[in-house]
Formats: sequence, structure tokens, C-alpha cells
Amino acid sequence: MSSDHRIYSYSAVLMGSPILLKLYSHNEALAAQVFRLIKQYEDLLTVNRTPSQVMEINHAAGRHPVTVSRPVFELIRCAKAASLVPGSAFNLAIGPLVKRWKIGFKGDSVPPAQEIAALLALTSPAEVCLDEEAGSVFLTRPGMEIDLGAIAKGYIADRVRDYLRKAGETAALINLGGNVQTLGSPEGGWTVGLKKPFSEGEALVGALVVSDKSVVTSGTYERYFERDGKRYHHILDPRTGYPLDNELDSVTVISTDSLDGDIWTTLLYGMGVAKGCAALRARPDIEAIFVTRSQEVILSSARHFRFTLLDNTFRLTDNTV
Ligand code: AMP
Ligand code: MG
Repeated sequence: MSSDHRIYSYSAVLMGSPILLKLYSHNEALAAQVFRLIKQYEDLLTVNRTPSQVMEINHAAGRHPVTVSRPVFELIRCAKAASLVPGSAFNLAIGPLVKRWKIGFKGDSVPPAQEIAALLALTSPAEVCLDEEAGSVFLTRPGMEIDLGAIAKGYIADRVRDYLRKAGETAALINLGGNVQTLGSPEGGWTVGLKKPFSEGEALVGALVVSDKSVVTSGTYERYFERDGKRYHHILDPRTGYPLDNELDSVTVISTDSLDGDIWTTLLYGMGVAKGCAALRARPDIEAIFVTRSQEVILSSARHFRFTLLDNTFRLTDNTV
């Protein structure tokens, strides 16, 4: 929380997370409008309760296409494109596996291998059929399910930023729990904490300073369960059907749009540090901070943010040089 007396903070619980909005003006009506906007988008995109447009698509799997609103169609199109990139760890059709594992929800368990194999057959992104003209989405096989859980917050964070900009705000921050989007540059930038994985409370590995940028973190520590001494976290490998298993505890992406950040955290999770840093050399607009299990903090580059290490039990590697 900033100590600057000109920053006004507003909070709510939405999408199962505490939401924080910071404004440079005292404007409760605007804050209420922002929270309403978030709720409206959540109602379109959730897969955790009916009725949402995404749930309608899932319920009609193998039966008929469902016409959805333009924003939902565009988001699904974007998610499908990211899923079809060769070797992508992102898969919008991962729903059947997410539902079966129930990671982070009551009743989570390790599914038998043959069940995972059967469900994997229902996760082909190519079988999410989009009809541009009709604005409809059709899942070709019964049992297929879209899950936008990895990108819904990013998409919504961008809509909040656009809304605030249109409303004339020049400096604001929205934190949707893991997704931070910022507008403007108050006093040289917004400070965003980088969480220490698996720590109690609010312990930080470091802090970033950004302006007009999104900061998205995906972490294995965010949702997981432990069984027989093994930890199962919520980011699944679409190639195996099991949680992605590599050297990473978290990936943070700094980008202009939070949707890009949300997609890239998953892509980079799948690539790991070395391949991830290599891939980002071709994308100067996307930067990442990797936190590894062996307590290393690796910056792919740092053109659009400043980073300060706050916990000296971690080692910092800056690939910028
Ligand atoms: P995030 O916190 O943004 O990393 O999103 C995690 C959520 O995305 C999970 O809880 C699932 O709902 C969903 N998910 C899990 N694995 C994948 C994947 N490989 N591709 C797309 N979405 C996924
Ligand atoms: Mg994500």
C-alpha cells in the first residue's frame, strides 16, 4: 500500500480474489463503475458457475455452435491462436483436464493415467471451431471444454485500463490478484511487489517499478495440493496432462497489454528459463522475470521496468548485459 496521501485505494472481492483499485482522485462512483465492469466480464467468461457464455459453449459441445458476444468471440479467437503455436504450453481447450484434477478446489486428486490419456484426446485446440460471420463457437466433440482461466483476468485488466483512460484518469492501478495493470506514471512509476513463492503472508522477492505497463505473475504456489510428498500445481502441460514440471516457481511478464502477459506467462512456463529467454529476444515488447526453485531470479531483459531485489537469499541474474 502506498503511503502517498494523494492515492486513493478501493477494494472488492470479485472472481474469487481480492481486487484493488488505486486512483489519483477521490472518486467512489468511478470505483463502483469499475467493479461493476469487472463483474460483467466475469459473468461472460467464468467456467466455475453457470450461466456464462463460455459455459454455454461447453454445454453445447458435440451438439451445436453457440453465438457469443463480440468480446468473448475475440478473446476465444486470440486464445485459439496462442494454443496453435507449435509447442505451445497454452491450450484454451484444456478444460476437461482442469475439471478432472480440480487443483485448488474441494475434491482434488491425482487421476489414473488412462483417464488422463482419455481426457487429453478431448483437448485439441484445432477442434474449437470459430465461425467469424455468425460470431459462433463450436466444440466438435462431446466432453470438450474451453477454459479461459489463464487469460480472463488479463483481458479484464485491459478493459479496466481502457475504461479509466476514457474516463479521463491519467494515473491508476488495478490489481486483479496476480494481474496488475497500470495507467500513467505517478512520481516516476508504480511499484509492484514480486511475491516470494510458498511464503506466508506478503513476503517479497523484489519490487518492480513500471509506467503504463501490465505486470502478470503465474506461480506454482498460487494453487496446488500435495499428495504422497509430491506437489501438484494448477498449470497443466497440455502435452502430458500433468502439471508442468520444470525448474520454475513463478514467471512474471511485463507487457503493455495484460492479455499478452497472461498468455506469455503460460508459454514461458512451458519453455523454462533458457528457451524462454531465447524466445523473448524476438519480442522486445515482452519481458519476463523467472523465479526458480533454486532461488534464482532471472530477468530476460529490463527495458520497460526497474527491478530491486529485496530478499538476499535469492540470486539475481540480469540477462540485459
Ligand atoms: P494463471 O493463473 O493465469 O497461470 O492461470 C491458471 C489457470 O489456467 C488454471 O487454473 C486453469 O484454469 C488454466 N490452465 C491450466 N493449465 C493451462 C494451460 N496449459 N493452458 C491454458 N490454461 C490453463
Ligand atoms: Mg495467465
